[in-house]
Amino acid sequence: MSGASSKTLERVIAALRGALGDEAVRTGQAIPEQAMTDWTGHAPMRPAALLLPCSTDEVARSLAICNEAGQPVVPQGGMTGLAGGAIARADDIALSLARFAGIDEIDPASATMIVRAGTTLQAAQDAASAAGFELGLDLGARGSCQIGGNLATNAGGNRVIQSGTARDQVLGLEVVLASGAVLSSMTKMTKNNTGYDLKQLFIGSEGTLGIITRAVLRLNPPRGRRHTALVAVDGYDAVVKLLRSLSARFGNDIGAFEIMWPDFFDFGVALTAHARSPFPAAHPLYALIEHAGLDTLDEGEAFFAVLAEALDAGLVRDAVLAQSVADARALWAVRECTAEFPARMDPVNFDVSLPIGLIGEFVDVCRAALDKRWPSNRSYFFGHIGDSNLHVTVDGHSIPGVAHDDVYAFVYEMLAPYGGSVSAEHGIGLLKRAYLPFSRSPEELAAMRAIKAALDPKGILNPGKVI
Ligand SMILES: Cc1cc2nc3c(=O)[nH]c(=O)nc-3n(C[C@H](O)[C@H](O)[C@H](O)COP(=O)(O)OP(=O)(O)OC[C@H]3O[C@@H](n4cnc5c(N)ncnc54)[C@H](O)[C@@H]3O)c2cc1C
Repeated sequence: MSGASSKTLERVIAALRGALGDEAVRTGQAIPEQAMTDWTGHAPMRPAALLLPCSTDEVARSLAICNEAGQPVVPQGGMTGLAGGAIARADDIALSLARFAGIDEIDPASATMIVRAGTTLQAAQDAASAAGFELGLDLGARGSCQIGGNLATNAGGNRVIQSGTARDQVLGLEVVLASGAVLSSMTKMTKNNTGYDLKQLFIGSEGTLGIITRAVLRLNPPRGRRHTALVAVDGYDAVVKLLRSLSARFGNDIGAFEIMWPDFFDFGVALTAHARSPFPAAHPLYALIEHAGLDTLDEGEAFFAVLAEALDAGLVRDAVLAQSVADARALWAVRECTAEFPARMDPVNFDVSLPIGLIGEFVDVCRAALDKRWPSNRSYFFGHIGDSNLHVTVDGHSIPGVAHDDVYAFVYEMLAPYGGSVSAEHGIGLLKRAYLPFSRSPEELAAMRAIKAALDPKGILNPGKVI
C-alpha cells in the first residue's frame, strides 16, 4: 500500500459515496479504461476508485475526506498527457472533472471567459469563437484534453509564439487545496498587484498542489486569415535571421515557426499523401511558417514579399506558398507526422528547451554524440524554434536492448552546458521526475518541496509526481 490501509480505503470510499452519491464514485469494472492510462503508453492500472464530482463544492468535500484519512488522490483531465502525471496506482483514488464542464460566462467588455476545468479545449475554443473571439491556446489533443489539464501542465501548443503558453491565458483561477479549502482568485483584471500571484503556483504544478476547478481565461480578437509557407533554409543561422526579420516586420502575427531537420522532414514527407518532397532538391533545414493576421487585415502579400526578399538575400533557398486551405493542410501534414510515431517506431521522446541561438549547435552536438554512442540509432529533430522548444525522438527499435532511461540520461546530460530544460511543455509527471535535477538547482528543488509541504502537508495530491 502506498497510502491508507485497505480497511481505511474502504471506509474512505464509503464516506465519499455518502458525500457525493453512488453515481459520482466508481469502483471495479465501473471505472472506464480511459482512467487507467494516458498517452505515454504506460501499462494500464485500475485505481481503487474514480470520483466524478460535479461542482467545486463536491471536489472540496472529496478532498476533505481523503485528506483526513491520508488517502492519495490523482487528478485526471482528458488523459492526453505525455509525462504520466495523471496515472493512478492501484490504491490511489482518481478524481476527474469530466462532469464539471461548461462555460459559466463570457464577458465581452473584459474579453474574458469563465470556464469549468472539465471542459475540453475544443469546447472552450468553440464557445470563444461563437462569441467573436479566439482562445490563445491550441494543441493537437484539443478534442480530448481539458482546460484543467491544460493549466495543470501549462500546456504550450501551436500558438505559443503568438499568445504564450497556457499560463499567459489565465487571469483568475479557482483551486481546491488538499485540505478541501477553496482558494478562489477569480479576478478578471489584468492588473492586480496585491501580494503573491498565487494562481501561477498551481499552473504547471501537474496536480501536486491543488485541484483546478475553474479559470478566468483571456479572449483574443480572432485571427482569420492564415497564410502558410514551407521554406528551405541554408542553415541554422539563416533560420534565426529569418525569424528575427519576420518578427520585426509582423510582430506576433507570425503564428507558427516550425523547423524540421532533414531526418524528420524526410520521415514526414514519406507519410503524406504525395510521399515526395515539394522541393526538387534536398536542403539543410526546412521551416513551416504561418502568418496569422487579424480578421480585418490581409497582409498575405506583405508576408510573401518578405519571404521573396529572404530568397533574394540567400537566407531562403526555395519556398512553397500554400494557395488554399487544402495546400496549407498538406504542408502541415508533414510537420504533424509525430502523431504517427507511436505506430511506426518505439519513440523515446524529448521535449527540451534551450536558448534559441544555441539550438542549432545543440542539434549537431546531440546527433554526433548519439551516432557515436549508438551508431545504428535513428533520430528525428524538429522544433517550435520561436518558442525555444526542440523535440527529439530516438527510435528505440533502432537501438535494440538499450533502455529508454539510458537514452534519457544521455541526452539530458548534454543539455546542462546549454542552460537547457528537460521539459519545454509536456511537464515532469512520472517519466521525468528523476531528471528534474538536470534543470533545477538544489535550492530551487528545496523551495518546491517547501511549497508542497505547506499546501499539502500529508502529501495526498498526486504523490510520486514532479518532485
Ligand atoms: C496528439 C497530442 C498532441 C499534443 N500536443 C501538445 C502540444 O502541442 N503542447 C503541449 O504542451 N502538450 C501537448 N500534448 C500533451 C497534452 O495534451 C497536454 O499536456 C494537455 O494539456 C493535457 O491535458 P489533459 O486534460 O489530457 O490532462 P491529463 O493528461 O489528464 O493530466 C495531465 C496532468 O494534469 C493534472 N491534472 C489534470 N486535470 C487537473 C485539474 N483539474 N487540476 C489539477 N491537476 C490536473 C494531472 O494530474 C496530470 O498531472 C499533446 C498530446 C497529444 C496526445
